[in-house]
Amino acid sequence: MQERMLFRVYRWPAAILLSALAAYWLFGVFIPPLLAQSPYISSLAGMSQRLALLAIGVGTITTTIYALLQSIRLWRWWRGKGDACTNCGGMVEVRTKKDRIYTQCLACGVRK
Ligand SMILES: [Zn+2]
Repeated sequence: MQERMLFRVYRWPAAILLSALAAYWLFGVFIPPLLAQSPYISSLAGMSQRLALLAIGVGTITTTIYALLQSIRLWRWWRGKGDACTNCGGMVEVRTKKDRIYTQCLACGVRK
């Protein structure tokens, strides 16, 4: 139960970090040698590497801030200050679907 809740708390920061690493590999490792083969567009290889550094930088900063905010929410829940599920006592997350606002438990998945 706790593992599922931790996975749900940190899934988006992990996805952002993995996307940034994939973008770094794509623009920094994979594409520059392909661009360097052509005499017409070989100057774009440097631009691709700068884009890779930008992607990993923005991704790392975004992941750090997002994970820190999620950790604060988790810490507040552990101290009993955050909203808790009435079914299992797990941490809940406020979500919206169309015009409806509801809470969903990150441990058992119950919506209220
Ligand atoms: Zn629950």
